[in-house]
Amino acid sequence: MGKLPDAAKRELLAALGADHVRDDPEALVAYSYDATPLVQAMPDAVVFPGSTEEVAAVLRIASRYGIPVIPRGSGTNLSAGTVPVAGGIVLVLTRLNRILEIDEENLTATVQPGVITQHLHQTVEARGLFYPPDPGSMRIATIGGNIAECAGGLRGLKYGTTKDYVLGLEAVLMSGEVIRTGGKLVKDVAGYDLTRLLVGSEGTLAVITEATLRLLPKPEHRKVMSALFDDLYGAARAVSSIIAHRIIPCTLEFMDRATVQVVEDYARVGLPTDIAAFLLIEQDGPEAVVERDLQRIAAICEACGAREVRVAATEEEGEALRTARRAALSALARLRPTTILEDATVPRAQIAPMVERITQIAKKYDLLICTFGHAGDGNLHPTCPTDARDPDEIARVEQAFEEIFAAAIELGGTITGEHGVGAVKAPYLEWKVGAAGLEVLKGIKRAFDPQGLLNPGKIFPPDGRKRKVIHRVPHVHA
Ligand SMILES: Cc1cc2nc3c(=O)[nH]c(=O)nc-3n(C[C@H](O)[C@H](O)[C@H](O)COP(=O)(O)OP(=O)(O)OC[C@H]3O[C@@H](n4cnc5c(N)ncnc54)[C@H](O)[C@@H]3O)c2cc1C
Repeated sequence: MGKLPDAAKRELLAALGADHVRDDPEALVAYSYDATPLVQAMPDAVVFPGSTEEVAAVLRIASRYGIPVIPRGSGTNLSAGTVPVAGGIVLVLTRLNRILEIDEENLTATVQPGVITQHLHQTVEARGLFYPPDPGSMRIATIGGNIAECAGGLRGLKYGTTKDYVLGLEAVLMSGEVIRTGGKLVKDVAGYDLTRLLVGSEGTLAVITEATLRLLPKPEHRKVMSALFDDLYGAARAVSSIIAHRIIPCTLEFMDRATVQVVEDYARVGLPTDIAAFLLIEQDGPEAVVERDLQRIAAICEACGAREVRVAATEEEGEALRTARRAALSALARLRPTTILEDATVPRAQIAPMVERITQIAKKYDLLICTFGHAGDGNLHPTCPTDARDPDEIARVEQAFEEIFAAAIELGGTITGEHGVGAVKAPYLEWKVGAAGLEVLKGIKRAFDPQGLLNPGKIFPPDGRKRKVIHRVPHVHA
C-alpha cells in the first residue's frame, strides 16, 4: 500500500466523521508501533469507529479498495501484532468501551472490545462476581486484545485463560458482514466452534465488536506466600510436587536469580538477592481451604529444600509480593534501552531444564537473559535487556531467542504460551504446527478473509522462511 486513495479517504470520512479518521504524521507515527521492540512500520490512516456499523463500513471500504486493516486495542501486545507491516488502516477499537450488561442470573458479562480489563474486574467484583483472566497488562489492555491474543495471566493455573471465559462473540468479517457465535448457552455444539476459533486469532480472521464472557462467584478469601530457593531444581521440584499433591494454587509464579536481583533493586521489597529462585504462591477460596492449602504447600517447599517460606501476614504484605513479581518487566526495562521479552512455554516438569538451557544460551551469546514467568503453567518469559542501536548485539539476541524457541519445542513446549505469534514469531510457527497444520490454518484464513487484507504479515510467515531475523520493518510512507 501507499498513501490511501482519495476516494477511500472520502468514504471513510463520510462513514466515521472527520474527528475519527486521521492521516496526519503524528497519528501515523503514534500507530506505527506497539509494545514490541524493534518492529515499526507506518500505516496510511488510523480510524476510530464508534459502533459495529462503523467497523463494518470501514471493512467494506477497505475490501473494495484492497487496503489492509489492522485491528488494535491498546497496543500492549508483545508480538508486533498491531504493527502495520504492509501499511493500510489501523482500526482502533478503544471507543467501543462500554460494559453492555452484567447478567447475574446467567453469570455473564456482555462487553464491547475496548473495555479495559481491570475496569471489568472492578465492575463485576463490586457485585460479588469474578472475571479471572488477569494479564500483567490488565490496567491498560482491552478485552478485545485479550480475546484476540487469548491472554493468560497470573491466575491461569487454577482458572485457565481468556478462552475459558468467552461464551459468545459478535464479529465483523472483512466483507463487512456481521456474524454472531455462541452466546449465553452453557451447552452449544451447533457446528464448528467459531467462538474458540476467533479467540487467539490475533485480528487476522474478523474484528470482534462484542463479547459475552463467563463470570464466577468472587472467591471469599485469598492469601499469598513466598518461597526462596538456593537451588533452581528445588524450586522446579516444588512446582511439580505441589500439583502432584493435587493442590492447584491460584497463582504459582517464578523469578530466577538475575530477575530477583533486578526486581529487588527496583521495588525494594526485601528479597535476598543471593537466592537461585523465588516462587510467589497464592491461593483463593473458602478461608479454611486457603489456610490448609498454604500449610501443605509450605511443607512441600521445605521438603524440596526451600531456604525460607513465608506466608504474608497481611493483605498489604501479600500485595507487596505480588507487586514484586509484576514489577519484573518494568525493573528489567531500566537496565538497557531495549527490553525484549519472550514467551517460551514448556510442560511444567521441564521448567528447570528449560531455565538451564536459557542460561547456557545466554552464556553462549554473551547476553544477560533474565527469566521469570508463570511456573505453574510452564510459561516462561526469558527477557533480554539490550540496545537496539547495537546491531552486533541484536544479531546475537535474535540467534539466542531462535535457540530458545527450538529448545522449548524440543522439550515438548511451544513458541508462545500467551503473547501470540504476531509478526515476530511467524517464522517459527511451522516448528510447532507442522507443514500440514500450517496449510489447515491458511485454509481457515482464506475462508474468513479471501483477499488476505485483515492484519497481513501476522501468524503466517510471509515467504515460507522458517528462520527470520527480527528487524525494523522498513515500510515507511510519508
Ligand atoms: C507489561 C506487560 C505485561 C503483559 N502481561 C501479559 C500477561 O500476563 N499475559 C498475557 O497474555 N499477555 C500479557 N501482555 C501482552 C498484552 O498485554 C496482551 O496480549 C493483551 O491481551 C493485548 O491487549 P491490547 O488491548 O493491548 O491489544 P493490542 O496489542 O492492541 O492487540 C493485540 C492483538 O489483538 C488484535 N485485536 C485487538 N483488538 C481486536 C478486536 N477487537 N478484534 C480483533 N482483533 C483485535 C490485534 O490485531 C493484535 O493482533 C503483557 C504486555 C505488557 C506490555
